Amino acid sequence: MNKDVIGIVIILLFIGIITWIIWGSWDIFIGKKSVLENSNKPNNEIVVSPENNLELKQIPQNATTSIQEQPKNTQVQGKSAQQNTTSTQKPRLGVKKYILQNDEPSKKLDLIFIPANITNFSSLQSKIEEILYKNGKDVNDRPIASLFNTEPFINYKNKFNVAYIDKNIDETFFNCWQGQSNMTNQALFRCDEEKLQEAYKIFDPDYIIVIFNHTLRGFGGSSGGTIQYLDINLTLGQLGWTFMHEFGHQFGSLADEYSYQKSPAFPCGDTNNLSCFENYYRDTIKIIPNLDTLGCPEWCTSYDLSLDTVLTLDNNTCSQGKTEQECKSITEQTFGSPTCIWFNLPHPFFKINCVSHVGTKNIGINCKPNTECIFGGDGQLTFKPSSNSIMNNAGSITFNQPSKEHLENILKCCYPRQENELCTNFRNQFKNASQYEKIFNCQ
Ligand SMILES: [Zn+2]
Repeated sequence: MNKDVIGIVIILLFIGIITWIIWGSWDIFIGKKSVLENSNKPNNEIVVSPENNLELKQIPQNATTSIQEQPKNTQVQGKSAQQNTTSTQKPRLGVKKYILQNDEPSKKLDLIFIPANITNFSSLQSKIEEILYKNGKDVNDRPIASLFNTEPFINYKNKFNVAYIDKNIDETFFNCWQGQSNMTNQALFRCDEEKLQEAYKIFDPDYIIVIFNHTLRGFGGSSGGTIQYLDINLTLGQLGWTFMHEFGHQFGSLADEYSYQKSPAFPCGDTNNLSCFENYYRDTIKIIPNLDTLGCPEWCTSYDLSLDTVLTLDNNTCSQGKTEQECKSITEQTFGSPTCIWFNLPHPFFKINCVSHVGTKNIGINCKPNTECIFGGDGQLTFKPSSNSIMNNAGSITFNQPSKEHLENILKCCYPRQENELCTNFRNQFKNASQYEKIFNCQ
């Protein structure tokens, strides 16, 4: 009998010890320990930096919410106190909130939206959803463009992760009012991009879109380069189109297909240097997927300039300008139609100095399906594959054929990176061009 009691007591003690060990280690087992350690810190404002990124990711949803809901003046006080102690102190960046998550960032194309001066985050989320999914027409009967309704992206939705950061960018820390519009000389919202990329890389972005709520100061609020700047206050039809246009620059390094009417014959008009004309195709146009030189040899077999009868008439009018002043006054007399642009040297395609800025009709012969060859584009030394496209005008919600193929090649060859003949050839086309570094080195 006594033996049985001792046996039961030993078994109970054993169970107790096992339970205590498991219970004591439970927090470590489920990874909560870092959160508990955080809450014991005297200052529980969490500063996001590459070093403590892992901690941040492990914080449960409700913990971040309580930090987010801190009274505004507390945050401001905390921030200025930090700034007083050290000028290199990184601001708290916020937390990544997924809108679309297909897999971990290393395997996908990650778009990260960083808000600037946004007050309503549920509105931000629905604007991003519009940018991704919305179709149909806006109140002005304009078709709405969105990422996953546009070819080629429509077929590659599973390659994307899309997220936003739940805290506005610190505009002072990232020096966000350094831009200036060269059209109006007014300030533009543009941040220190190197600093921004370095700090926000903890969120694993492939492409960053700074989505801002600032009254436009002059022409050109949105832009697409390494970082895209997108004005959240654009109307429904404009928002999706602007995102897609800037993403064409940002993701595909596509060029604008509209002509800068007021530019002094960009980029060779100001110079008497013949090599600018001669090298422009070799150095610039050849690697731009959606522009080509005279006759569009990349997608047409031959050409006949006289096929653009409107351009021929316009050039007859412009060619009467024998000096820069005369060229300018023709544009004034015709009220901008045609707009004549002065070149210091005879234009390499038309052999006249005063040239109409844009063509209207296809001069290409035997072109690939869905392509044409129309004068005008980013500057007055190029031809483009279509008269309408996302890279040209807001009324259009499709990329033209060469743009589409280029974008699709990136999607096929990256995220995750593919090694095959198509991708090797594709990459080799761009290996010496810095703007295509991301395509060449993609993950
Ligand atoms: Zn553009």
